[in-house]
Amino acid sequence: MKRTIRDLKNIEGKRILLRCDFNVPLDNYGDILDDSRIVAALPTISYLLEKGAKLVVCSHLGRPTGYDKYLSLFPVAVYLMKRFPNRVKFCNKVVGQEAEKAVSILKNGEILVLENLRFDEGEEQNSPEFVSKLAKLADVYVDDAFGVAHRKHASNYGIALKLPSAIGFLIEKELSVFDKAFSNPAHPFVAIFGGAKVSDKLNLIDNVMDKADSIIIGGGMAYTFLKAQGHEIGDSILSADQIENAKRILQTAKEKNVKILLPIDHVALIKNKDRAVCVTELQKGMAGLDIGNKTIKMFSSEIANSKQIIWNGPLGKYEDPRFKKGTMKIAKAVAKSEAYSVVGGGDSVSAINSCGVAKNINHLSTGGGASLKLMEGKVLPAIEVIDTL
Ligand code: AMP
Repeated sequence: MKRTIRDLKNIEGKRILLRCDFNVPLDNYGDILDDSRIVAALPTISYLLEKGAKLVVCSHLGRPTGYDKYLSLFPVAVYLMKRFPNRVKFCNKVVGQEAEKAVSILKNGEILVLENLRFDEGEEQNSPEFVSKLAKLADVYVDDAFGVAHRKHASNYGIALKLPSAIGFLIEKELSVFDKAFSNPAHPFVAIFGGAKVSDKLNLIDNVMDKADSIIIGGGMAYTFLKAQGHEIGDSILSADQIENAKRILQTAKEKNVKILLPIDHVALIKNKDRAVCVTELQKGMAGLDIGNKTIKMFSSEIANSKQIIWNGPLGKYEDPRFKKGTMKIAKAVAKSEAYSVVGGGDSVSAINSCGVAKNINHLSTGGGASLKLMEGKVLPAIEVIDTL
């Protein structure tokens, strides 16, 4: 069992380095367009403040190479200042003397927000020097950045090997949801997979095969499976090197009595006319970019009859309004069902949010890559190194 912040004793007056995932979208004015990642970290922040910790909060934002004023964490500090009036300070350095000085004058129950971790190249390189500098800022390390838990960076991996450590409430919740969904699923258990590449989802399908009753496959990856079954897929996206894997999966599903549902009609782009049409049979010159109405109906009825759903990946090229209907309809079907629903992956989560049905989903994961790894049954490196009880 990983140590959680509830297990930390004598927090009052302790310097706690809290790694959050504040990788929020900002507009050109530095306004936060979606605060859900900050909101998700608030229970941990509030708890540690109430216990009288001196909280040093750090995060990455975007993918800077060196300092970039448009990727400063200052807007996040301002957000927290409004949430916790007179308790929040901002340090425009990540580590070093200025950060150490700012930490040294921090009072119990106050927060110091450090500048974007990725302004220092030592962060992503997990450099021992950068880890040591971070370690100087705290007595205890708390990880609540689920979104980067599949990475081995200085602020979530290196530091956990250096300081006494624990996980925050957000990571605790993410772990328990995926653990429950996979170790003790409610049946019928339907897994829905979409997205572009089969290779990215192979491990996922293999892991789910022993647990799910049916697997819905849509999006670009469905075409490799349809090709494996001998269907004409026209100019749809194909992972030719995965056809044999697709055949193996179809065969294993048959042997294990797991139902695999593939699209039976498509919204296709006629390439030389740049026109979208709904067809049951694809032909040369046509690329299937969304599931058709009959498929939506078939997938939705499977979803409606389930008791547990996990979903990762869009059912079509949903960024293009002509090909978003399938993904949106499936988002609504998942929300409408009474099943226990877990949605992971940036595209599927944003589809749920844009349909306005987030409140009807049991768990929307805050980590795309990290949730994918958990669904694959893998251990997350940044969590593996956290102290156990
Ligand atoms: P992934 O990162 O593998 O989950 O893939 C997500 C991407 O898959 C999105 O950008 C979608 O536009 C794309 N996608 C989904 N369905 C299709 C499709 N039928 N053809 C091409 N791209 C697709």
